Amino acid sequence: MQLVFATNNPNKLHEVQSLIPSSITLLSLEDIGCYEDVPETQDTIKGNAIQKASYIKEKYGYDCFADDTGLEVDALDGAPAGFSARYAGEQRNSEDNIQKLLENLKHSDNRKARFKTVIALELQGDQHQFTGICKGEITKNKSGTNGFGYDPIFKAEGYHKTFAELSLEEKNRIGHRGIAINQLVKFLNTL
Ligand code: IMP
Repeated sequence: MQLVFATNNPNKLHEVQSLIPSSITLLSLEDIGCYEDVPETQDTIKGNAIQKASYIKEKYGYDCFADDTGLEVDALDGAPAGFSARYAGEQRNSEDNIQKLLENLKHSDNRKARFKTVIALELQGDQHQFTGICKGEITKNKSGTNGFGYDPIFKAEGYHKTFAELSLEEKNRIGHRGIAINQLVKFLNTL
């Protein structure tokens, strides 16, 4: 089976590639000649995942899946969620996003947060969704250099290291995207 993973993010591709069985050939957007920014303009995590997968299916004709991830912070009433990439502005800069989040939580003792990934799959004319959640907390300072995005300031529940201090295998085992991808793989294995 061939499936396009609709992402321009090399970090996501790297994480997901190591979780997909070899019976599935994973194609990147580059592989199908898609060099444009895939639109991602919805207000919710689920809406963005569906928008990306539907866009690739409709415009390029490939069965595909897309993920969208958001960070939901309790003390901010669940924000930035669907706006996680654009939290500090349209430049979508991870360092700016981290600094804004740390600033907004400066006076908060409640550091509880969770990562949520929704994967939308377009397969043989049907659409499916898979969700992965990882609960944890926002640290006071950045730590670690692995991973991407908010990883340097997120510690999963029961862990003393941030995601950016974990290996790829460790993050995939407990992380939101790994959980959602495992559900996707389980589903594909039932076909
Ligand atoms: P998107 O899923 O690419 O739209 O990501 C939304 C925002 O969350 C971006 O700022 C990403 O850098 C960030 N993000 C997505 N996945 C992860 C992750 O696994 N760890 C940390 N940040 C992430």
